[in-house]
Parts: sequence; structure tokens; C-alpha cells
Amino acid sequence: MQSFWYRFKAGVQRFMQGRYGADQLGLFMIWAAVILSLAGAFASGMGATPVFSLLSTASWAWAVWRLLSRNKARRCAENQWFMAHWAKVKTPVMQAVTRFKNRKKYVYFSCPQCHMKLRLPRGVGKVTVKCSKCGHSFEKKA
Ligand SMILES: [Zn+2]
Repeated sequence: MQSFWYRFKAGVQRFMQGRYGADQLGLFMIWAAVILSLAGAFASGMGATPVFSLLSTASWAWAVWRLLSRNKARRCAENQWFMAHWAKVKTPVMQAVTRFKNRKKYVYFSCPQCHMKLRLPRGVGKVTVKCSKCGHSFEKKA
């Protein structure tokens, strides 16, 4: 049995030799495929079109195709492009989630001069706020 697994593993290794493999974009595509197929299962219960399962299959196919690709430089460039854009999407989303979680503890507002996002503990009353970015002072009630 052990020799079977050994040969199996060696075979997989030989097959993957020179191929690109997994990266963040690949993992993202697989997650997207799983979420899309769940959404598809949910939507089909309501008589929706098979668009979700089509997208899910496409996402899977693309992830596997990238995994097995031999053009490493191209796949690496795709992943870098993805990482740069993902950071831009992820940061504001995470900030919005934090603000929503703390909505009972803090009042959130923007600096009138530079639009920097600021916060005050709720119930603090009328205070003078000094912006941490541009130094602008203004009165705010919280
Ligand atoms: Zn400011």
C-alpha cells in the first residue's frame, strides 16, 4: 500500500513539475466558486436562472487552468494585479465592518477640512476635536 501512495505522490509531483500551482488569486477563485454554487442552490429554490452555477463552473475552470498553467510569469503578474486591487477593496470593507460593530460605542464622522475618518466615544458631550491628519480643530457633539 505504501508503495502505491509513494508512486501516487511521485506521479502528482511529476505532473505538477513546471506548473504554476496555487496562489492568492487561485484561492479566491475557488472560494468564489463555492460561494457562487451555494448562492446558486439558494436561488434555484426560488426558480432563478442557472447563471450562478455557470459562473461557479467558470470560476472553478479558471482556478484549475491557472493551477496547471506553465506560464508562470504571466500567472504571477495576474496574482500581483489581483493583490493590488484586492487590498483596495478589502480595507474600506473591513473599516465599514468595524464601524458597524462599534456603532453603539462611537460616533463616526469626517474632518470637514480633509475628510479624514474620525470617531468620538458616544455620550462624551460637546468637545473640541483636533483632526489627527491635518490638525484642523472644530466642535463636535457626541
Ligand atoms: Zn483633517
